[in-house]
Amino acid sequence: MRTILLNPGPVTLSDAVCNALPGPDLCHREPEFFDMQDRVREKLLAVYDLDPAHWATVLLSGSGTAAMEAMISSLVPEDGKLLVIENGVYGERLSRIAEIHGIDFEALNYAWGEKIDPDIVADFFTQHTDISHLAVVQHETTTGRLNDIPALLAVCKKAGVRMLLDGVSSFGAEAIDYTESLDAVAATANKCLHGIPGLAFVIVRRSALEYAPELPRTLYLNLPRYCELQDQHSVPFTPAVPAYTGLEAALDEMAEQGGWRSRRNRYRQLSGIVENKLVKMGVVPLMTTTESSCVLRAWRLPSGMTYQQLHDNLKENGFIIYAGQGGFAAEMFRISTMGDISDDDINRLIQALEQALS
Ligand SMILES: *Cc1c(COP(=O)(O)O)cnc(C)c1O
Repeated sequence: MRTILLNPGPVTLSDAVCNALPGPDLCHREPEFFDMQDRVREKLLAVYDLDPAHWATVLLSGSGTAAMEAMISSLVPEDGKLLVIENGVYGERLSRIAEIHGIDFEALNYAWGEKIDPDIVADFFTQHTDISHLAVVQHETTTGRLNDIPALLAVCKKAGVRMLLDGVSSFGAEAIDYTESLDAVAATANKCLHGIPGLAFVIVRRSALEYAPELPRTLYLNLPRYCELQDQHSVPFTPAVPAYTGLEAALDEMAEQGGWRSRRNRYRQLSGIVENKLVKMGVVPLMTTTESSCVLRAWRLPSGMTYQQLHDNLKENGFIIYAGQGGFAAEMFRISTMGDISDDDINRLIQALEQALS
């Protein structure tokens, strides 16, 4: 029996990705590797039909947080000022990154899961005209909330503020509006794209790289340097070579399956099946379907059941669910329907949930 990962990454891999791995032994200073790097960079831009004349994929070896940190530390100029909107763990992480790198920033803090009010952000910009950049998470994986990025982009446009987006758990499955106020999206290979962990990336507007601090805030996560070398068919440090192989196979498969829109439909279908079952069993969602991403839903633990009991019971049947973070640990569980999950897998999950909850 195969184990199905219902945690928000890494995900259950498809046969196509597994069969491609680990790939040939490649030296990362040989043309075979650089050709693969070029292809992966192009294929990532193609996910959202982005024009390579204006956008670049910058690949980084590391987890999604490496992409967040490279984006924030490299793209807020020396004389810039950042506003971070927090409504979960990952928004708070964006602030922590700004703090560690000594970036001038303000945070607009919402309780975890709370809705961001674009009017409040607009007022904030009016009162703080020195804000140059806004950092926000698209899908707050803490709670499953899909933040309204188009509304925030409209506010940014009015105020002349540039947006830096954490799209780590949404890139490849949710709509992303690459409008003029969006400068960068941080993402990873091992969530909605169905690759393996070890490779993250930033989709960056090329013109935004020009405003990077002259003295980089970090050696290893210096985005303009990675971009420059990758453009020149090179690489600054030893990359996670097999993760490139895995991601390329995953991107090819995704394109064959119809791209990000099909992926969103599939995730919605799967999470709808889970939702029907859980609601029937009396389990209460943390927020409504329309407030949630297609990727993950958060659920209140039924009374009289601990997370550990539910987790262990499902694990015995081959399913790994995910706990709530921080203060949510005792109240919540999360189910992500990312990854290569078949109809048969989801039917087995429904049976396993029925058994675990009754
Ligand atoms: C998973 C995730 C990250 C990155 O987490 P890593 O453990 O570094 O991969 C960042 N932001 C969001 C919204 C995420 O879901």
